[in-house]
Amino acid sequence: MTTDRKTLVRRTPWPHSASRPVGTPIQPSVVYAAADPDALDAQYEGRTQGYAYAREGHPNADVLASMIDGLEGAEGGLITGSGMAAVAAVLLGVCRTGDHVLGGDQLYGRSLRMMREDLPRMGIAIDLVDPTDAAAVAAAIRPETRMMLVEVVSNPTLRVADMEGIARVCADRGVLLVVDNTFTTPRGYRPFDQGADIVIHSVTKLLAGHSDATLGYVAARDPELQAAIRVFAITTGMTPSPFDCWLAERGLYSFPLRYDRAEANAARLADHLAGLPGVRRVLYPTRPDHPDHNRARALLGDRGGHMVSFEVEGGRAAANRLTRGAPQLAFAPTLGDVGTTLSHPPSSSHRGLTPEARAALGITEGFFRVSVGVEEIDLLLADFTEAIAAAHG
Ligand SMILES: *Cc1c(COP(=O)(O)O)cnc(C)c1O
Repeated sequence: MTTDRKTLVRRTPWPHSASRPVGTPIQPSVVYAAADPDALDAQYEGRTQGYAYAREGHPNADVLASMIDGLEGAEGGLITGSGMAAVAAVLLGVCRTGDHVLGGDQLYGRSLRMMREDLPRMGIAIDLVDPTDAAAVAAAIRPETRMMLVEVVSNPTLRVADMEGIARVCADRGVLLVVDNTFTTPRGYRPFDQGADIVIHSVTKLLAGHSDATLGYVAARDPELQAAIRVFAITTGMTPSPFDCWLAERGLYSFPLRYDRAEANAARLADHLAGLPGVRRVLYPTRPDHPDHNRARALLGDRGGHMVSFEVEGGRAAANRLTRGAPQLAFAPTLGDVGTTLSHPPSSSHRGLTPEARAALGITEGFFRVSVGVEEIDLLLADFTEAIAAAHG
């Protein structure tokens, strides 16, 4: 009896197989056993390749990182435990007290919060500027400006940043250009080809694509900067879960297909919504009535992305009827899922703003942002016809 129990708790070696698995195995091991201290020295000194402790790196994260590296034209990218961990690794892992950081004035809400609340607490000054205006960006740069964080397409009004102008200004003035490429994805825009120094992703969104993994990615063009970001992420425990990495890798195989389908759906949906009674306006970058239409064309070609925003007449009451009238369209504050999701910025991402500040951005109570999924287009258009009718029913 006692002997049996001992046998039960003894670790059993991984079975040998002359053939290799085609699907990536999940490797949840926290720790790795080395042969002897000399072997460990060789590993830590980079003479051999190996893992030691999962917080410092594990195979599932590395497989996923190299796939995203391939999409972004990067090398040595890092996977973090969330998109916000990637943002934090860059802002806090690179900047020091006395630095100044610029950010787009319509960044992702949590990124804005980190800029406004956390950086100043650490003696890092910030300014938020309109990224559609490169002259405003240039005017805000100071001698101590270390970096500018920008998103190519803003949330939720889908304004398109003057990336060419910003890249020129940043290069001229020695400011690191950091691009959060979550919305555009490497299929819509490749920041490293356009002068970016650092690229960030919330892998949680389109890249993983199934709303079942929370992850981030960060890559820097300069290997020394990348190493500093990696060490900071390890020290502060931004490590991703192997299972989430495995799920995201699985999702990533279909990312190009999902993206192309969602984008084609979004372009069709935008035109459809614009023709429905009770819809006051539709925002989609490649539509001629978009405020940044020409820049969107120049920057993104015909790639308008998978996000559409629109405004219904009738204020909050109509908005309530709209979401209740279309329960098949998940009313959920995320984006990039295989299924279409609806978000209502005045009650979620932008609820912290005053109604006046929201109005200045054009975000009224009838404003919705749609993350378009990969559904059959006819079904999707019918769902929205029904939802808009319900809003005014
Ligand atoms: C969601 C998102 C983030 C944060 O990512 P998480 O994985 O939710 O932490 C950062 N930037 C953008 C543009 C996002 O959409």
